[in-house]
Amino acid sequence: MKRFNKNGRWIMPIGERKKNKTIKDEEKIRYVIKEAYCPNGCNIIDKDHIINGLFGLRIKFRRPGAEGEFIISAIEGDFDKIILSGNLEEGVKDELYCPHCGVIFEKLVKCNCTADADMVIIGLTPELDFNNAITFCNVTGCHNGSFVSSGDVIRHIRLDSQV
Ligand SMILES: [Zn+2]
Ligand SMILES: [Zn+2]
Repeated sequence: MKRFNKNGRWIMPIGERKKNKTIKDEEKIRYVIKEAYCPNGCNIIDKDHIINGLFGLRIKFRRPGAEGEFIISAIEGDFDKIILSGNLEEGVKDELYCPHCGVIFEKLVKCNCTADADMVIIGLTPELDFNNAITFCNVTGCHNGSFVSSGDVIRHIRLDSQV
């Protein structure tokens, strides 16, 4: 392998450069949410509620005749929730809002579990970036999406719809 470029500078192979950093960085991005924001930039990490050892994400929900707030886990694939107020109904969709400013969370695509289900998107940066976000279905009990990157979810949905 060539170790020097035309100017005689050292070329560091990508494999060597990344070896020490990537495993931990990937875990932080893919498996555990440390920051989460509403579309207006409110931080929705709730430091009063811990689920499975981590601060959860506080979300307000509303559907015809019912509303309340819950905390969802910051761990990918963990669907444990703390209901702060109101109640959720299995198989029923809720619109999801920021608990601080009340703005509705944006939706990325439809979920195929029920006719009106949506995949809601929550950014991990103060300014919404679809490549740095989590997404999940807004129907209680549907485990579609979970905490994966948006691009992955779009790909999964496309595969599903081809069947
Ligand atoms: Zn907000
Ligand atoms: Zn769904």
